[in-house]
Amino acid sequence: MKKIITLFLCFPFIFLATISFTQKGEESLFKPEIASSPQAQKIFSFIEKNREAIIEEWIYLTEIPAPSGHEEKRAKYIEAQFKAAGLDEAYIDEFGNAVGIWRGTSQGKNIIFAPHMDTVFQEVWEIKVIREENLLKAPGIGDDTSSCINLLWSIRALKNAGFKPKNNYYFVATVGEEIGFRGMRLFLDNSKEKFDMLIALDGDLGSLSYGALGFGGGRVIFRGPGAHTMQSRGVPNPNVAVAKAIERIYQISVPAEPPEKFAIYNVGMIGGGKVNNAVSQESFFTVDLRSANQAELEKAARQIEEICRQVAEEVGVEVEINLNKNARAYQLPGARHSTLVRTAEEILKFLKVRDLEINPLGSTDANAGIEQGIPSINLGRTYCRYKHSLREEAEIDGLFVGIKQDILMILSLN
Ligand SMILES: [Zn+2]
Repeated sequence: MKKIITLFLCFPFIFLATISFTQKGEESLFKPEIASSPQAQKIFSFIEKNREAIIEEWIYLTEIPAPSGHEEKRAKYIEAQFKAAGLDEAYIDEFGNAVGIWRGTSQGKNIIFAPHMDTVFQEVWEIKVIREENLLKAPGIGDDTSSCINLLWSIRALKNAGFKPKNNYYFVATVGEEIGFRGMRLFLDNSKEKFDMLIALDGDLGSLSYGALGFGGGRVIFRGPGAHTMQSRGVPNPNVAVAKAIERIYQISVPAEPPEKFAIYNVGMIGGGKVNNAVSQESFFTVDLRSANQAELEKAARQIEEICRQVAEEVGVEVEINLNKNARAYQLPGARHSTLVRTAEEILKFLKVRDLEINPLGSTDANAGIEQGIPSINLGRTYCRYKHSLREEAEIDGLFVGIKQDILMILSLN
């Protein structure tokens, strides 16, 4: 009954959301004339003139360590740059996000642009960037320091050309993106403003995502009494349970199409037992389960749970199942053909970015917006390799395409 009531209550909202997307949306706001206008030319030539300064600042910012939870130094630097650029407001909020506000007119929309400041490198306190031709190499050089640089220089170039925004731009360099979009969630939850759009700046150049990927995997542990091999006849073995469960989990079929229903899983780790001449007392495996669709995610998770309970009973061991229920999947109806996505798509095509990939499988600060019903996308920064590893690399030329992308986005939405 509760389910029926919830469905009934949700229905008008889903319906309205669909209508508003299909009626207003579908038109890209980008036109090639925007990129060839005298103002855009002035903006782009400012970027070209400052090429070396941009690369230097990119190196400088990357060399400030900022593992999740320790972003203070970067936040101070970015706040100071927001101030120096002449934004109307610049501050560090109570959660550590560096926020800059550029006010437009009262009819303007409230639009967030959000790179993240944190990196995944918890124990790395010394960072030295290596420059080799068209590459910069260092942990965090791409993810997501390059987006912070793209944003700072987009603002400076727009200011330099005398651009007057109609929209109100909220530039939010976030903390804790790598640990569950923490900074953005807190920013949105505690803001008095209503936001019309959110553009997260993260990921490779050309990756445009408009939905929130859900994560439903976790860890399954089987436990038994254990025994020496010589006394092991008939003793339930958790390793057998692991093997059986994995075999059956791989029989679960999950949809690959359409993209809004896409789901996938992988058993990434298994382990169990301490010695070779005894029955394991404890064995485990992990399963990474992801989907664009919450119903598919829950369906697969339910099947995994059933299989594990069934196997535990058959083998005669205990089972503990810890699957993630918090990182839910969200899709906004009509998002793929919304103005926001179409505009970004046309800009990426105009810039001839390689590897253009438009999908509903985002896992960035945009997820925090989508969860709250705010049309949100993610836009990339430059071409990167080996992300989240110490040998991370980013292409210098790609960064300048990323800056153009961000500038054209602001000019088109205006
Ligand atoms: Zn990132």
